[in-house]
Amino acid sequence: MSSPLQLYVHIPFCVHKCHYCDFNSHERTKPDWSAYQQALTTELKQWADQPAFAGRKLATIFFGGGTPSLAPPSLIHAVIDTARMYCGIEPDAEITLEANPGTIDADNFRTYRQAGVNRLSIGMQSLDANELRWLERIHGADEAVSAYQTARDAGFANINLDLMYGLPGQDLHGWLSTLQTAIELAPEHLSCYQLTVEPHTRLAATHAKKPYPLPDDDTSLSMFFETRKELSTAGYDAYEISNFCQPGLKCRHNDGYWLYHDYIGIGAGASGKWDRPDQGMTRYSNIRTPESYIEAALSNGTAINTQESLNRDQAAAEACWLGLRRSAGINRHAFQQRFGVDVWEHFKPQLQAWKNDDMLLIRNDSVQLSESGIALADTISASVL
Ligand code: SF4
Repeated sequence: MSSPLQLYVHIPFCVHKCHYCDFNSHERTKPDWSAYQQALTTELKQWADQPAFAGRKLATIFFGGGTPSLAPPSLIHAVIDTARMYCGIEPDAEITLEANPGTIDADNFRTYRQAGVNRLSIGMQSLDANELRWLERIHGADEAVSAYQTARDAGFANINLDLMYGLPGQDLHGWLSTLQTAIELAPEHLSCYQLTVEPHTRLAATHAKKPYPLPDDDTSLSMFFETRKELSTAGYDAYEISNFCQPGLKCRHNDGYWLYHDYIGIGAGASGKWDRPDQGMTRYSNIRTPESYIEAALSNGTAINTQESLNRDQAAAEACWLGLRRSAGINRHAFQQRFGVDVWEHFKPQLQAWKNDDMLLIRNDSVQLSESGIALADTISASVL
């Protein structure tokens, strides 16, 4: 049986390119929204006909960016309508849109809801004015909180807040104070990521010349574990390394990535993947520059930049790498059914040392990280690749 099908829609435009950002985002004062909408819907119709996707209804849709809340609501409407017409959307589908607090418009929020968006992910990042300035965000702390209230007033009952820790000069107390304020807002979901200096960003260049006073490893580790403790006390389930939800309200779309589900990706720089039964997996990624993407999608129907196929062994390794990010770990039975091997037996040579160090728990029905292993999740999971 096929896994649930997902749709990712990339909106690559931003008012300002934050210096730490390594997403496919582009500063544009006046994007050609009409051409971009046409490119998205053209591409979606084309992918809906692809044999691996045809006849499968969408279980989730995610508008990510860039800044999707900059897009005219008519674009969001058009993409969802096209998805409904050409793919079909499950009645209980989760439809998320990322919103930047600096681009909030109450009418737009209401229209997104009417279009079918039922979950908002707000890029709050911090509630400290100095930290927000350093991050080069286009909003202040008050705007971040009022964006949340506007979303609630518009009727959104499922809201995520994105927060970032490990900022220059930040100590544990400062981070926990931001986290507490966010918890008091009672969002259904929180994503808490540590700042990383990504290569090829402006931040990487300035940090190389004159390093910023980032928290040391011990402080960062305390922030990581205290975040888990505080959120657990507040009733949030740590269902992934950096993601926390009120019971039953995990982000189904992102969880689908960690479960290695198939997805269609449309938009500049978006990627998609599908299983090839009994073989492996195929993945594509799109042209990244918005204008070149639009041109390609409108003339060819798709805008593929690269495409690759993984054999079954390579796909199994990727599925293991991603699955270990989930607190529930990897379901051994489901993995066996999908890849024809037991995940523990198959990856024992790479994982045995982690088990010996009590970083990995091998249960009858799952392979998962222990609480101490979670802090080393990236290293442990990468050992199977
Ligand atoms: S708003 Fe988000 S996507 Fe845009 S530049 Fe800043 S971090 Fe990147």
